[in-house]
Amino acid sequence: MEELKLASLKDGRTEINLQGTLIGGKEIILMGGPCAVESAAQIEQAARTVKRVGGKVLRGGIFKPRTSPYSFQGLGKEGLDYLVTAAGKYGLLAVTEVVDSESLDLVKDKIDIIQIGARNMQNFQLLKLAGKANKPVVLKRGLSATVKEWLLAAEYILDAGNPHVILCERGIRTFETSTRNTLDLSAVGVAKELSHLPVIVDPSHAAGRTDIIPTLAKAAITAGADGLLIEMHPNPAEAKSDGGQSLNPGEFARLAMELYQVAASVNRTFTSTTNLGESLEYFRSRIDAIDSLMVALLSERMQVVKQIADTKSLDKIRDSHREKEIINRLSKVAEDLTFPPDLLQQIYSLIFDFAVEYQISSKTLGDGLSTAHTF
Ligand code: PEP
Ligand code: MN
Repeated sequence: MEELKLASLKDGRTEINLQGTLIGGKEIILMGGPCAVESAAQIEQAARTVKRVGGKVLRGGIFKPRTSPYSFQGLGKEGLDYLVTAAGKYGLLAVTEVVDSESLDLVKDKIDIIQIGARNMQNFQLLKLAGKANKPVVLKRGLSATVKEWLLAAEYILDAGNPHVILCERGIRTFETSTRNTLDLSAVGVAKELSHLPVIVDPSHAAGRTDIIPTLAKAAITAGADGLLIEMHPNPAEAKSDGGQSLNPGEFARLAMELYQVAASVNRTFTSTTNLGESLEYFRSRIDAIDSLMVALLSERMQVVKQIADTKSLDKIRDSHREKEIINRLSKVAEDLTFPPDLLQQIYSLIFDFAVEYQISSKTLGDGLSTAHTF
């Protein structure tokens, strides 16, 4: 493509070094946070989670280009202060979306990365202004833009003097209605073939629902993405925007844990030890992610236990035979992993006792159960 004078792939890929974080290098860069900054406490909590699981960039919109004029439009300058403070506290980079020249002027000296949203991908005036800013730009692909149009939009920024553009695939509009948009993972490979610019993927806006975000995120890494931009809210049920597609901190942590292996399978890394080293913070972040995962799994186990209760009569609830069989099988697994079998037995006897009690109360109390046990 002749017109891609600056964006086309010639000799090597662009790596953007932002205070030691390399975007477009070997490491997968995880960016996360709420769709919109809603309060100091909300963004602070999000920042803590992003940091703990190995993320490098905190996201949070302060000017929200909403489909409806009556939806929450963002906190503006007040939100910027909350975002920058939270990111600074946890040593994260901050990214936020700009929608016009005023918002760009407001954020450009305070934020680490500027985002141009899908709806503004062909706002050529804004692209030119972002090209004059001294900060990297995440350029989202437009909802109906071809890869060529997307790269030409990047060319505007490059041509205006800013060499640091990060392309972001976030789903395109298709005839499919089961997801908000359709994540076009082919575009990652195509964009990387045509251009030297880093490419990241936002599975959140493509999916519009949380259940398929982890698999899309992992697929994006294997498709060649250099990073992920994911919506995560401390309490998605209360989110003022995009709550239905926001992971909660536990889900985010679980995904982050899984990324480590996925990254390794394509010769990439996740959670570089160079930044965190073998520091207390690093080990704590891993412990926190593991703990969140354990609680999520235990909660899932209790849901299944409840379903089993519905199929059993009250006198058949305790099944010592089955309990022994589980312990024997898991003891072998534990042995292989050099996990102390005594500890395994202690943990499982607690789980079994609780499960039995839970099943009995489920049968005798019926729906009142949820107040008796809050899982
Ligand atoms: C966002 O990141 O919150 C956003 C509005 O994304 P997009 O521009 O991709 O819709
Ligand atoms: Mn959003």
